[in-house]
Order: sequence, then C-alpha cells, then structure tokens
Amino acid sequence: MLHYPLDNLLPVDAGGFYGEFGGAYVPDSLKDNIRSLDEVFRRCVSESDFMTEFDRLLQDYVGRPTPLYFATRLSEACGARIYLKREDLNHTGAHKINNAIGLGLLARRMGKRRIIAETGAGQHGVAAATVAALLGMECVVYMGAEDVARQQPNVMRMRMLGAKVVPVEAGNATLNNAVDAALASWCSDPEAFYLIGSAVGPHPYPEMVARFQSVISYEIRRQLMEVEGRENPDYVVACIGGGSNAAGAFYHFIDEPDVRLVAVEAGGKGTSTGLTAASLSTGRCGVLHGSRTMVMMEPDGGIREAYSISAGLDYPGIGPLQAYLASTGRTRVEVVNDDEALRAAFELSSAEGIIPALESSHAIAALKHIDLRPDDVVVVNLSGRGDKDMATYMEWK
Ligand SMILES: *Cc1c(COP(=O)(O)O)cnc(C)c1O
Repeated sequence: MLHYPLDNLLPVDAGGFYGEFGGAYVPDSLKDNIRSLDEVFRRCVSESDFMTEFDRLLQDYVGRPTPLYFATRLSEACGARIYLKREDLNHTGAHKINNAIGLGLLARRMGKRRIIAETGAGQHGVAAATVAALLGMECVVYMGAEDVARQQPNVMRMRMLGAKVVPVEAGNATLNNAVDAALASWCSDPEAFYLIGSAVGPHPYPEMVARFQSVISYEIRRQLMEVEGRENPDYVVACIGGGSNAAGAFYHFIDEPDVRLVAVEAGGKGTSTGLTAASLSTGRCGVLHGSRTMVMMEPDGGIREAYSISAGLDYPGIGPLQAYLASTGRTRVEVVNDDEALRAAFELSSAEGIIPALESSHAIAALKHIDLRPDDVVVVNLSGRGDKDMATYMEWK
C-alpha cells in the first residue's frame, strides 16, 4: 500500500497567509470552531491511525493511484510528450473526492453528525454526499439554482446518496451564492462540519485542502520516474476554479524551479466582455469567503458575479495559494474562453477516447497557448470526467 506523506510544503505562515493573501476573516461565532479544526487537523495528519485510514480509503475506495497516461495522439497533435493525470477515473468522477475523504475523516474524528457543503458543477456535492454516506453522517448541499438546472445528473446522484440539495436563488444563482449560503448555514449551526470543496475559505481550509490533494503530485513524481526516468516534468498544467486540483497537481513541484506551472482560468466569453471567471487576470485584492485573495469586483468594490460555461470554474475568487503563486510569477496564468474549452473537449474525445469535464477541457485547451518543443514532458491534470457536461456538449455541437 502507498503511504501518502501530507507534509506541509506550502509557503504559508502561522496565520494562514501566503504572502499578502489568505488569513481567516470569520465572524466571532466561528473562531473557536476554526481553532479546534486547526488543532485536530495537525494532530491527525501526524497520527499513523488516521493516515493509514486515509491511505486505505484512497486506494480501496477511491481507486488510487490514478494512472498517468501517455496520450499518444494528443502528443502528436501538440508536438510534445503529453501525459494525462487521470483524476477523472476516481470514484465519483473527479479529484474532489480526495479532499472529501480527508475532511470527512476529520469530521468523524471531531464527533460531527452533520456535514454542510456547497457545490458548483455538483462534483463536490456528490463527493461530500458520498463521504457522508460512507461515514454515516447527515449531509446538506447548497447549490445555485442555475447550477441545479444545468447539472441535473449530479443533483440526482446527491439525492440518491441521501443528501439534501438546497437550491440557492440569490445573485446569479451559481457557486458564489452557494458558498455564501453554506457559510451562513455554518454560522447558525457551528456544531455542523463545513466540508469545503476547494482550496478557498478561511485558514486552515486552503492548507488542509491543498495537503489532502497533494496525493496527485506525489503520484505524478513516482509515475514519471518509472516512465521517463525523472521525477520532474517540464510543465504541469491545471485548470483553476478555486484552485484545489491545481494545488494538488503543483504541490510537490512548487519548490522545483525547473518545473513550469501553468494555471488555467476560465475566460468565459472573454476577459474584456465582463462575462468571465478570470479572477487572477481581472480581479483585485479583497476579502471573499473568509480569505484575502484576488476577487472580481465592480468599481464600487462589490463582488462581480462570475460567468463561465463550466459550473465548476464559475467563481469570482480564487484560493490564496493560487493568488500568491501567480503574484510571484511562480505560475504562469493562461486564460481559456468557453469556445476554446468546448473545442478541446471534442478534440480530446476523438483523439484519445476520453470525454473530459468542461473544467478539465480548459487545461487541455491551454496546451495551444504554450510553445512546446518535441522533447518537453508535459503533465495535464485531467481533473474530472465529462458525464455531467453531456447536455452542454450536445447543445454546442
Ligand atoms: C470543481 C472542479 C474543478 C474546479 O475546482 P478546483 O478547486 O479549482 O480544482 C475542476 N475540475 C473539476 C472536474 C471539478 O469538478
């Protein structure tokens, strides 16, 4: 059995700051809660009982390690050596389950009975509902009403798993509003466990999520060593919504300067149209959902609603780690618009027989933005599968 080391390799200080980003901006009613969560987390990741259960569930239940697949025809088309990290093959269809298992085990350790979660595309809602069923807990998932309409298969899965799905009508009824509702619900019921779905929110959430997702790059290094005889690729490419799959894919490479990290944000209809989710490219520094980070804002400082065809990237903020890595130039940020992502989804499907999630299609499309050489080794994190997006794909076609 693999043993995942969840060591803290992040550029984070004791207050949860990544440079100027991060921190824990929460109401007083949640401060004790956050403090005890932090303590329990640090204790658990250093205990072999906890870690053995995490290792075992990721392997026997989630199906890890996920393959690192050499994509022959995509490589030919791109003129480089392209590997896909197959997070789409995880149980429930995306990388979200890695974190949901970790946080779910923490919730159980803290004696929690009730899980609160938010979801955009529904992948995190499904992961949270799955873990709640697995561990015998109650689960309530907040989801924007617009997303409930465009992600029906996942809504049905959550309900079958026994979760209660609460549609949120506020704002443009997408992920931002769902996070607001989940946080409000947590404030009124601090005894519940908030099982967050991305590397966002108040400290220690971004750190915990990144460390649970670090299994992705831990595996990539070992797998590349086997096939390429080296642990470091030339590029790692990942899409960013809140930044959790990217955090996991980049994690063990952050301190490896020869590995170029490419973070791909959703341009929507284009950054100049106002219909975008590109918070790094168009945002300003502000506080959103408990953390100081890059946020898309109106001129008056109000939050500007995000737009992307992909419900999982449709968020006006970004986790503090990604804001920091972009601000220092450690990551290169690429913007991919809706139409490029849709085209990439069809190209990957016909070249490799793999239907990617719309989110992951943004990462695939970004390959065309990079000047690649034939011997470059590129790992693209294929964060999820496309089943939930079939209606959108067929409508576009
Ligand atoms: C949720 C989701 C994303 C975006 O979230 P991150 O936290 O940025 O990873 C990307 N891909 C898939 C398949 C998702 O479900």
